[in-house]
Amino acid sequence: MKIDIQNLVRKNILELKPYSSARDEFEGENGIFLDANENPFGELNRYPDPYQRKIKEKLSELNQISAHNIFLGNGSDEVIDLAFRIFCEPGKDKVLTFSPTYGMYEVSANINNVELVNLDLNEDFQIDLETLKPYLNDENLKIIFICSPNNPTGNSIKNIKYILENFNGIVFIDEAYIDFSPEESFRNQIKKYPNLIVSQTFSKAWGMASVRVGIAYASDEIIRFYNKTKPPYNISQLNQNAVLDALNDENIKLIQDNIKLILNEKKLLIENLEQLELVKKIYPTDANFVLIEVGNADLIYKKLVEENVIIRNRNSVIKNCLRITVGSPEENLKLIEDLKSIT
Ligand SMILES: *Cc1c(COP(=O)(O)O)cnc(C)c1O
Repeated sequence: MKIDIQNLVRKNILELKPYSSARDEFEGENGIFLDANENPFGELNRYPDPYQRKIKEKLSELNQISAHNIFLGNGSDEVIDLAFRIFCEPGKDKVLTFSPTYGMYEVSANINNVELVNLDLNEDFQIDLETLKPYLNDENLKIIFICSPNNPTGNSIKNIKYILENFNGIVFIDEAYIDFSPEESFRNQIKKYPNLIVSQTFSKAWGMASVRVGIAYASDEIIRFYNKTKPPYNISQLNQNAVLDALNDENIKLIQDNIKLILNEKKLLIENLEQLELVKKIYPTDANFVLIEVGNADLIYKKLVEENVIIRNRNSVIKNCLRITVGSPEENLKLIEDLKSIT
C-alpha cells in the first residue's frame, strides 16, 4: 500500500509560504544581532530557536530517532490541533475517535469545524474492528485518533497494527502514558508507516505538566508540514531550558526511579482498593491512574472533595466510574483512609 502524504494535506497548507523569521534566515549562534528588532538589554531578550534543535538532538540520541522525525509542540494539545489544521478541510473532512477517550480530540475537531465520527470501544474498552471497517475507505476520513494507554480507561489498545495496515489516512497514536506501560512505543514504527504520528509528552512521566511541551514522532514529510504550519516561536526559551535541564543523564535516572515508585504505589493502591466494599470493579491499567466503578460515583466524589481529596468523576462518560491518579505514598494512604470512612 503506497500512501501519498501530500494527497492528504489541505491544499492551502500544501501551497502555504510559511513565515520566515529572522532566526530562520540566519542560523548562526554568534554575532551582533540587529536583525529581529530585539532589545539589546536583559537576559530573556532574544527570540528562542524556532526548531528547538538542542532538545531534538537529545531526544534523537535518547530514542535512536533522527531529529528530522521529531516535532515539539506547546503541549500535546498543539500537536493534536496542528494535525487538524494540516490534514482536515473544515466543513468537509472527518476524523474518527473511539470513546470513552481523551476529550481534546473532540474539542479540537469542533474548533476546526471538522466532523467527528465517534465509535464506542467494546466492553473491554477495545476497538471493534467489524464496526470500524466500513469507515476505513471513506476518503474524507483523514485522521483516526487512538489513545494507548487510553485515558480515562487506562488500558492499552490492541489491533493498532491492523488499522495502520488498512487505513490510507493519518493514524494518530497518543502515547501520553507510554512510559508507565509495559507495551512498546509505536515511535519505532514511523519508518515503516509514513502515515503514522506518535504523540508523547513531558507532562506525565517526566513530571513537567507546567512546562507545556509535547512531542510528535513521524515521517520527515509529516514533520515538515508541522514545522511549516506551527507558530514561529511555539516553545519559549524558558520552557526549552526546563526540558533541556530534564534531559541530562542524572535527571533521566531520577525520572526512571520516579516511574518505578509510581508503578509500585499503583500496585499498592489497587491492592487497597480491592479490600474496599464500595469498589465494585477495578479496570486493568497500564497508566499512572486507575479507573474504578462504584455504587454512586457522584456521592463518593463529593464526599472526597469534603475531605479535600480531588479525584476525577467520570460518571458522565462511564456510568459510576471514578478515575484516580496515583499520588505520593502519603496522598494514596489518605485517599484510602477517606474511602474507608465513607459507607
Ligand atoms: C495528559 C494527556 C496529554 C498531555 O497533554 P499535554 O498538552 O502534553 O499536557 C495528552 N494526551 C492524553 C490522552 C492525556 O491524558
